[in-house]
Amino acid sequence: MVLKENCTICKGRIEKKYMPMKEWKINGPLCSKCYSKKIGEHYPGEHIRVNLDE
Ligand SMILES: [Zn+2]
Repeated sequence: MVLKENCTICKGRIEKKYMPMKEWKINGPLCSKCYSKKIGEHYPGEHIRVNLDE
């Protein structure tokens, strides 16, 4: 049984799954792109960096 997961925001295929923060009110996994975007939206002043190293 294969569980296919798509990004909750862009509906794209998830290469590497990221779980959103509770306060984002997103109910599902995110791809790395949308996750970094959300981080930027929610924490614009802070230098939180997503580790995109493989
Ligand atoms: Zn996405």
